[in-house]
Amino acid sequence: MRKTVYWIEGDGIGPDVWKAARPVIDAAVAKTYGDARSIEWKELLAGEKAYAATGEYLPEATMQALRGAELAIKGPLGTPVGKGFRSLNVTLRQTLDLYACIRPIRYFEGIMSPVKRPDLVDMVVFRENTEDVYAGIEYKAGTPEAKRLIDFLRNELGANVDPESAVGIKPMTARGSKRLVRRAMDFAVAQKRSSLTLVHKGNIMKFTEGGFREWGYEVVRDEFADAAVLEADAGGAAGKVVVKDRIADAMFQEVLIRPDQYSVIATSNLNGDYLSDALAAQVGGLGLAPGVNMSDSLAFFEATHGTAPTIAGQDRANPGSLILCGALMLEHMGWNDAATRIYNAINTTIGNRTVTVDLASQMASATTVGTVAFGELVEK
Ligand code: NAD
Repeated sequence: MRKTVYWIEGDGIGPDVWKAARPVIDAAVAKTYGDARSIEWKELLAGEKAYAATGEYLPEATMQALRGAELAIKGPLGTPVGKGFRSLNVTLRQTLDLYACIRPIRYFEGIMSPVKRPDLVDMVVFRENTEDVYAGIEYKAGTPEAKRLIDFLRNELGANVDPESAVGIKPMTARGSKRLVRRAMDFAVAQKRSSLTLVHKGNIMKFTEGGFREWGYEVVRDEFADAAVLEADAGGAAGKVVVKDRIADAMFQEVLIRPDQYSVIATSNLNGDYLSDALAAQVGGLGLAPGVNMSDSLAFFEATHGTAPTIAGQDRANPGSLILCGALMLEHMGWNDAATRIYNAINTTIGNRTVTVDLASQMASATTVGTVAFGELVEK
């Protein structure tokens, strides 16, 4: 079986981390499946490389290929200043309707962590990526738009809003929430995860965050009746995904106190933004965090760090995030044994304390290696 994967090199340290990551991904597939499975890599241009070749940062040919693609993976893209883009990443997410942002959080032995038992953390956060306060519907205090909206809220709806307020809108839909939860449940079932937790703030925001909770349970009840069991009925739950919900503030405590009770998390945009960074910090691994943004047709994996321009081209960047993106992609493809091979190899390499300079500076008695050498150690 040969699978096509589109890849974007990225700016800054993009070329450095790819040099290390791609051989690791190919070797994991070859060592696990021999000739029976392989990846056909097809490059797409974006960012500075695209601009140099075509005069555009996101050429139409790239977008067209991505619209028809199942799998893509990218290095970091810089934000072209004054070129009419808020961010290439945001443009890609919006244009391709990449509605689910997925971040796995797992600990690698030896990395510095601010918590006592980082080894108990093994979670995957599914964050809704298109709705909520990120929809960008916001009005500055004192502007005619804010005043009109406030007048309407006060006069027509009887809402108690201070006329001097800045106002933001938090749109959330059943469709948007359900497709996110469906995606998270599909993953939990396929990966035989122990639980799925809906995280929301429905005690305060009844119809938006409370809606998310309600719509989430609806998906579970209507579409996953055989594979899931509710927390309250979990007595005979062997082999099923236990589904529960937690209020967001309590969840921040829970993941510190009882991280082993949580496996897959599905949540709205703002909660997910906070929670995924807080969890990544617990395992000390912001620089090692992989991620994927998904639409209904495309899984678009991305290194979550930026272009790190000050170390670009110096063989100093940590390729771990992109390598782990590769593992996540293999898992998504169902090539789990190859993914496990990568996770184990990263574990061993970091456990041996042979790491790039960013990690070495946080670890006791570590040996510093370059970007490519780190990749070679993982590939061995
Ligand atoms: P950054 O992640 O590039 O850098 C922050 C710090 O982390 C720097 O000290 C950098 O040297 C270090 N760092 C980052 N990745 C590293 C790695 N793999 N190995 C070792 N050290 C690493 O963030 P920034 O400086 O805020 O952003 C730089 C550019 O990257 C901006 O144009 C920004 O828009 C873009 N950016 C892109 C993405 C993306 O494509 N997903 C994400 C964040 C930032």
